[in-house]
Amino acid sequence: MFLFECKDRNSDLDYKPFIYLCIAMTPYVNIHSHREGGPGTITVVSYRLGSGAPTPPAPFSAGIHPWDTAAAIDLCPEYDYLKRADIIAVGEIGLDRLKGADIDCQREIFAAQLEIAARRGLPVIIHCVRAFGEVAALLKQFPSVRAVFHGYTGSVEQTVQLILSGHYVSLGEVSLRSAKTIRAAKAVVPPERLFLETDDSLTAIEKIYDTASRELGIPPERLKEQIYSNYQTLFEGK
Ligand SMILES: [Zn+2]
Repeated sequence: MFLFECKDRNSDLDYKPFIYLCIAMTPYVNIHSHREGGPGTITVVSYRLGSGAPTPPAPFSAGIHPWDTAAAIDLCPEYDYLKRADIIAVGEIGLDRLKGADIDCQREIFAAQLEIAARRGLPVIIHCVRAFGEVAALLKQFPSVRAVFHGYTGSVEQTVQLILSGHYVSLGEVSLRSAKTIRAAKAVVPPERLFLETDDSLTAIEKIYDTASRELGIPPERLKEQIYSNYQTLFEGK
């Protein structure tokens, strides 16, 4: 439940703005997106450092994407950017064995950003492609850092490992099409460790929620309330 303010433009009462305290429905939370979201939605926009794009509106995460590691020359300004007070998470960061710089270089840049996240007490949004063991091992070196594995498509064994380490999984379109991921999510992901996302898809977050509700067998309103509560726990310390 949250409160918001709105102005009645059609009012004939001396043009005075009216403050309506509206009890709104629980918002949808889109934990990882490359686009701004619509009203009634909390969208954590992912800002790729070094992209030169304008800083997105809050709330947003920022980090050096593993795909951009090859192009990174002077990383100091990018690491400096991560000191901004309005960043709510560091990411997406991680390792990708199919794209980006060689894995040693990726590991170094990933570790440097994990260190910043640990120092600032921020969660991280993880991009992980064919490097689960290495990502999990690096995260173990920063035990205070909570991670959200975005676009998650792991096995039951991998999922058990990351849940036991205190991390979260975020499911998007691809995850929800994977029978293996659905099985793992249903078997071992407690609802309080779950997020949903659009990533770079044009599909509306509402539709992702519908699919997740159906596939995971969680009633739609309960799913919405749970994920909003997870957001408050991870980002607002509630
Ligand atoms: Zn992404």
